Amino acid sequence: MTATSFGSIICPTMAVSLFDGGRFSAVALQPVAPLGLHPAAHVLHYGSACFEGLKAHRGRDGVVRVFRLDRHAQRMAGSAELLCLPVPPVDLLTAMVRDVVAANRDAVPEPPGALYLRPVLIGTEQNIGAAAHPSSTAMLYVIASPVGDYFDSSRSLTVAIETELPRTTPQFGQVKTGANYAMALGITRRARAEHGADQVLFAPGGDVQETGASNFMLIDGELIVTKALDRSFLHGVTRDSILTIARESGYQIEERDLSVSEIIERAPDVEMALSGTAAVLAPVGRLVHQGRTITVGDGSAGVRTTKLRESLLAVQRGEAPDRWGWTTAV
Ligand SMILES: *Cc1c(COP(=O)(O)O)cnc(C)c1O
Repeated sequence: MTATSFGSIICPTMAVSLFDGGRFSAVALQPVAPLGLHPAAHVLHYGSACFEGLKAHRGRDGVVRVFRLDRHAQRMAGSAELLCLPVPPVDLLTAMVRDVVAANRDAVPEPPGALYLRPVLIGTEQNIGAAAHPSSTAMLYVIASPVGDYFDSSRSLTVAIETELPRTTPQFGQVKTGANYAMALGITRRARAEHGADQVLFAPGGDVQETGASNFMLIDGELIVTKALDRSFLHGVTRDSILTIARESGYQIEERDLSVSEIIERAPDVEMALSGTAAVLAPVGRLVHQGRTITVGDGSAGVRTTKLRESLLAVQRGEAPDRWGWTTAV
């Protein structure tokens, strides 16, 4: 499956909860159908929307496991709070995800495929005068999509470094909200057209942050360097999982700022990778900086990147022990 078809097939059943009068309603499982939003709905005018992205994996043992459901539900609650949307209780969202996986269980593909789950929260109040007010009503829903690999994992990526334009704004770095992706779109499209880049690595002022939908890691022998958590970027659940697995396997982790000049200087001698629910851990083979292409290592998928990726997938698929309680069987 290619990047363009990732997410285009939607399973027939979704879960919905409506927020009105100060609380979320009981969850309804219903057929996927157009939402029937009012043209004056808050989300359509003032961008009151956030989402999550997580996966359920089918193991060889037949068990379907959702990966780090609690973390994703907590992050959605954080996003809602920053966007002044009603905050969905973690228990409500985790129940909705489990319900959707159970209802669409037959659609969970065999590995390397997975069921991608997409919780969405939108402001629905009918009021075009509410630019400066939060939406008093909202809709929370979860849809599911059977997916393959987002990136062909054997192919290393070409990543263009953007040092002028930011991916997001300081207050929304940690939030999965539509505006961030709209902001990155034109920049990514230009990098693709001009340099054949697969992704853009945003590094405003030379500070290496992340790409449009994945976190960045530099892997130098048994050392991983990645940006320390701050408010400027999205705190990936995959990032945290890879770092945890790597630490367990004896890696040293340095969470600190990385500059563009450091990654360019070290590129010939290290591996670089992008982590994310869709990307898993995708190898970076080339950087493009100011029109110049720099090869990372020998340009192919690094052995450590491949090994870490396989270790994570093994936990997700129930083929390796889940020592951290990361998986929820449905
Ligand atoms: C979703 C996302 C990530 C990766 O987060 P995961 O929890 O690992 O899927 C990284 N950066 C951005 C901007 C994202 O939207």
